Amino acid sequence: MNANKLLKPMKSKILIVEDDNQSLYMLTFLLESNNYEVLQSNNGFDGIQKAHELKPDAIILDIQLPEMNGYEVTKALRENDELKNMPIIVVTSFAMIGDKNKALDAGADGYIEKPIDPDTFIAQMESFIPKKLRSTK
Ligand code: MN
Repeated sequence: MNANKLLKPMKSKILIVEDDNQSLYMLTFLLESNNYEVLQSNNGFDGIQKAHELKPDAIILDIQLPEMNGYEVTKALRENDELKNMPIIVVTSFAMIGDKNKALDAGADGYIEKPIDPDTFIAQMESFIPKKLRSTK
């Protein structure tokens, strides 16, 4: 057993489901710089599959996705016993009234508006996940 490994705190694994490469790159950069392990997906079906297979600690989910939108993905995840308690944080550029409630009604834990603010994103995201999963505690 490697002594270094014992001293290092375990990184929380965050799955990002996002079809826009620029947003995916930025979210990944912010999370990795803050000591999170990042898993990536760029569509809803694949995101659900990865959530099942890789059991991330939390999911950051875009709403506008091809074929299956973020609301549908959230509902599908919540219908599964193993995934129903996984924190889901929705990100969306829809500036529509009621969008936030729609996300929370579908079962999301949190809602962050795009454009993402790099200075506040981590704090926003961490306000929606249990303390034990936060890299900044
Ligand atoms: Mn999108």
